[in-house]
Amino acid sequence: MENLETLIIGSGPAGYTAAIYAARADLKPVIYTGLEPGGQLTTTTEVDNFPGYPQGIDGPTMMVQLQEQAERFGTEVRVGFINNVEFSSKYGGIHKVITDSGKEINTRSIIISTGASAKYLGIPSEQRLRGGGVSACAVCDGFFYKGQEVALVGGGDTAAEEATYLAKICSKVTMLVRKDHMRASKAMQHRVNNTSNIDLKYNTEIDEVLGENVVEGIRMKNNITGSTEEIKITGLFIAIGHKPNTEIFKGKLEMDQEGYIITKGKSTSTNIPGVFASGDVQDKEYRQAVTAAGTGCMAALDAERYLQSIPNVNGS
Ligand code: NDP
Repeated sequence: MENLETLIIGSGPAGYTAAIYAARADLKPVIYTGLEPGGQLTTTTEVDNFPGYPQGIDGPTMMVQLQEQAERFGTEVRVGFINNVEFSSKYGGIHKVITDSGKEINTRSIIISTGASAKYLGIPSEQRLRGGGVSACAVCDGFFYKGQEVALVGGGDTAAEEATYLAKICSKVTMLVRKDHMRASKAMQHRVNNTSNIDLKYNTEIDEVLGENVVEGIRMKNNITGSTEEIKITGLFIAIGHKPNTEIFKGKLEMDQEGYIITKGKSTSTNIPGVFASGDVQDKEYRQAVTAAGTGCMAALDAERYLQSIPNVNGS
């Protein structure tokens, strides 16, 4: 059993920024990194839009630097995850959490920054070949397909970014967009259109991923004409968005229909006193590293104010 002032769950830009502010406010934060230490940015290449990096920075380096910055002010970073939570609904109450190693922690405030995870199509052949050539992270796995032909599904900014990344490594990238247009920003679309080895196919979906133990090809279907076509590829990348990592909080915190945690007004407060949420876990709108970091800062300030207010509540 351990007693804490502030526990931070999740180690993306939101979690580490919350840690920097909480540590500087002397809240002695402990951060549990979760299953993907550093969060989604560790699976990205160049981050060109985070203010303060005029030449851009690669995602993993940025996350290491954020961790070092949080540790400089006394944050304790633990590689592990939280299995279960038991919130107190009482103002000033003690929240209990259980870690993956069975350790029980009592804490007066919690900042949830568990982020979001990649979605998959859900078709059986895709699920069967996950790890056998189907991946949701071009940056993690693209290297394995050097000089080979691959396909990618999705039409958002992630898909556009990953397609151009893969095009530098692979001989050809067939990009499948289910509508007759892409959702990605104009700048990203421009990049895709100007990359000669990306073969962009609109109104096209995956009918089946081919191959027994490893990906050998895909059968694509035009959703207007119904016609199908098979191509040979060795890697299939899925880039169709994300879902919030809120499984362990279901039924314990207010969430929207998609499972994003609901925060009050402009604050990071949830419906439980002393429990705050920051980053992608409560934001399906902006989902940027810089906005996640901004809400991480807000969560630490909200937690600090909350903890300061508790003695008054208790009459001391
Ligand atoms: P998005 O939700 O923006 O896009 C998802 C894409 O996948 C859409 O084209 C969608 O199609 C398609 N899709 C969804 N489900 C399926 C399916 N079952 N089959 C086929 N296609 C499907 O997700 P992103 O991850 O691309 O982006 C998330 C957020 O992060 C956005 O706000 C984006 O701007 C931001 N981002 C910013 C970056 C940057 O600024 N550098 C880089 C990456 C992301 P449809 O349009 O038909 O729904």
